[in-house]
Amino acid sequence: MTDIHRTHYASQLGEDLVGKQVRIGGWIEDIRDIGKLAFITVRDVTGACQLVVTGDNVPLAVQTPRQSAIVAAGTVQKSKAKDFPIEVKVTEFTVLTRAVHPLPIDPTGRVESSFDKRLDARALDLRNPRVAAIFRLRSAGLQVIRDTLAKEGFIEVNTPKVIGSASEGGANLFGFDYFKRKAYLAQSPQLYKEQLTLGLDRVFEIGPYFRAENSHTVRHLSEFISVDVEAAYMDYEDVMDIVERLVGNVIREFREKRRADVETAGLKTDLSFDKIDRLTYEQCLEELSKEGEKLQFGDDLSDAALRRLGEIHRGFYFIMDWPLKLKPFYIHEKEDNPKLSKSFDLQYGYLELVSGGRRLHDPEKLRSRLAEQGLNPASFSEHLKAFDWGMPPHSGWGLGFDRLMMVLTGAQNIRDVVLYPRDTERLTP
Ligand code: ATP
Ligand code: MG
Repeated sequence: MTDIHRTHYASQLGEDLVGKQVRIGGWIEDIRDIGKLAFITVRDVTGACQLVVTGDNVPLAVQTPRQSAIVAAGTVQKSKAKDFPIEVKVTEFTVLTRAVHPLPIDPTGRVESSFDKRLDARALDLRNPRVAAIFRLRSAGLQVIRDTLAKEGFIEVNTPKVIGSASEGGANLFGFDYFKRKAYLAQSPQLYKEQLTLGLDRVFEIGPYFRAENSHTVRHLSEFISVDVEAAYMDYEDVMDIVERLVGNVIREFREKRRADVETAGLKTDLSFDKIDRLTYEQCLEELSKEGEKLQFGDDLSDAALRRLGEIHRGFYFIMDWPLKLKPFYIHEKEDNPKLSKSFDLQYGYLELVSGGRRLHDPEKLRSRLAEQGLNPASFSEHLKAFDWGMPPHSGWGLGFDRLMMVLTGAQNIRDVVLYPRDTERLTP
């Protein structure tokens, strides 16, 4: 029976181990056959190491296809190779699973593959250290977000993704059969997280949301991960402060503690900020007007307009105080100017990362706003009833985590930072 365990990862092999026995597990990246012996480069999730194979093991080793999974045991010794200061002189070499040939992509990255082919072979693509580093950073980012929100007094919740009616009244919902009824995939946890502030005060959820948008862009997917927060007794500027601290913490973590992955992934690291600029919607209209882009109060900021703004403001910036009529029914108006709303977006250049705001908590106001927006309060009765139970004032936001990762890794396409993207074309793997 083969022992499938390893004693060390490749990156743990150091001079201190010279003369010691080790077991290595990984995949074959390269084979150099020089007759009586062979040099095998084995890679694992931490890096690569060199094996020296001799004797009866040579024919087996040199015939094993690249990317096959192996374990090897042997003695650590100094090496003359220029890439490896030490190597393992192998006494046992076992092929666990052979890789087929030819493989659909070259995960070493030496032969360039099309992005579609890489996505079709995503599991194999992750053997490319640059790609794996992106997903390690993604995991680190989520960890920082959880830690930050926990420290700010938020508790993590899970709300249903299968829902019985359109949560925000919009189209864009995927519907399906549900035990002789119609159900939908949630497009956001908006209504649930608001209800939860009633008893849990500050909540956050990290989960997948679904939008049946027929978009063909580098920033929209039909399934994406959102970080959602909602907090009682906070106004919109308070939750903007939270976004700012959260994004700052993720950037600091990457710069200070994840340097190796940042370097492997080949990322730029000039993202830090002290304070994020807070522009109002009306200031944006003025700036755009100076650039020759004439918009009327109440116009949405088009893709072209946002790209213009993104050229003026290259990094992160907030756009706040949007016209109320551009915002969903649950957004609170500004008390001193009810044409405006207590709302904001966090932008990075042209790209929207976060939308949030203060919410209406008064049930009467909420009912009349639904009606004003042409929605039927009766179809929101399940939601509205919670507002009759002593709802506290509250504010919150939703952050597109995949989009944040695009910015932090410098990816031009959201699909670069999502393992198995779902869009209008892609439903596999
Ligand atoms: P956009 O205008 O860019 O389509 P939105 O305003 O419709 O976004 P929101 O409903 O405000 O999106 O959702 C909150 C956040 O979730 C967005 O700021 C964005 O970061 C992210 N997001 C929304 N839709 C998608 C999507 N289809 N794919 C990836 N992320 C998304
Ligand atoms: Mg938005």
